[in-house]
Amino acid sequence: MISSILPTYSRAPLNFVKGEGSWLVEADGRRFLDLGAGIAVNALGHAHPALVAALTEQANKVWHVSNLYNIEQQQALADKLVDATFADTVFFTNSGTESCELAVKMARKYWFDKGAEDRVEIIAFEGSFHGRSSAGIAAAGSEKMTKGFGPLLAGFTHLPWGDHEALKAAVSETTAAILIEPVQGEGGIRPLPDQCLKGLRDLCDETGALLILDEVQCGVGRTGKLFAHEWAGVEPDIMMVAKGIGGGFPLGAVLATEDAASGMTAGTHGSTYGGNPLACAVGCAVMDHVADPAFLDQVNARAGQLRQGLEGLVASHPDVFEDVRGAGLMLGLKCKATNLDVVQAGYAQEVITVPAADNVVRLLPALNLTEEDVREALARLDAAASSMASA
Ligand SMILES: *Cc1c(COP(=O)(O)O)cnc(C)c1O
Repeated sequence: MISSILPTYSRAPLNFVKGEGSWLVEADGRRFLDLGAGIAVNALGHAHPALVAALTEQANKVWHVSNLYNIEQQQALADKLVDATFADTVFFTNSGTESCELAVKMARKYWFDKGAEDRVEIIAFEGSFHGRSSAGIAAAGSEKMTKGFGPLLAGFTHLPWGDHEALKAAVSETTAAILIEPVQGEGGIRPLPDQCLKGLRDLCDETGALLILDEVQCGVGRTGKLFAHEWAGVEPDIMMVAKGIGGGFPLGAVLATEDAASGMTAGTHGSTYGGNPLACAVGCAVMDHVADPAFLDQVNARAGQLRQGLEGLVASHPDVFEDVRGAGLMLGLKCKATNLDVVQAGYAQEVITVPAADNVVRLLPALNLTEEDVREALARLDAAASSMASA
């Protein structure tokens, strides 16, 4: 008999009933160190006092009014994002995949309005993940996500990761945009080298194609800059955001330059919930913390500490791990053992990690984890790896 919850996930038998910072409490009282943060969502950890205050204060005022009216918190969050980034304008969504929908629509409408009605193709990359909507799965293109769901949204080309020649050959006068994650998340924590992102920007400048960055997972302080592309010193035309921006409240956004957004006039797009007062009140509190340079310094300090420890972990468990990769607090342990077994061994040591493709275990902790949390994380991962060797 089918379960009352549609069985699209195979879930670990864990019931977390309370969270505090980087810790989650199981119903049976066990305390787990959370290095997954709800897949890079709980940017400030669990139950951060400033987020709890922002949400409860807003909950006592007004929850929802719709985008038929001005929403003060939405305006405030849009202004913060525009001030802190390349963007001139922002549309709020509720998820990453909705951000993908708008990014694709925006790029196509841009060219349509310029009279280039054939310029609809979007170049994307193998191993990418852009969410589970029809545009999201068509954009990612993998058989795992698309099989059985045809006909797929047309107009996507998929190129191998890192094949510069294939990329140059693929861009044509029908290319509307190039869509890429600066650090692939689900694909196995694969960072795009800064040089490649610069090269992509140049290619877009030469051909006119728009550069769409999917920073749903790698954005909002995750790599130690507010957005990952800042490391390469280049700017996109359109950027997808979600996950960390709401700190656990469902919130996403599409950021764009004035030019890239020029086709999106009144009536061309909408969302009932997008940018709702509750979500944006929380988003403002997240931004107030994460956009602070002192906060990002701390992210980089903890990232250095964690990465160094992980290098040691890999060296002491060569049968379990192959190497460490990633950027900031978006780290991947490429495994020799099966990644799912490593995650499982972690649960036994009360530490939470997240599997990814390419046999990788992801570490995406709260950005404000403490030095002590990092030491504890390394001790628990070491115990998990040791338990596998002796198993
Ligand atoms: C999670 C993710 C998405 C999809 O976000 P949802 O909120 O699950 O729709 C899109 N792109 C990337 C890079 C992601 O990591």
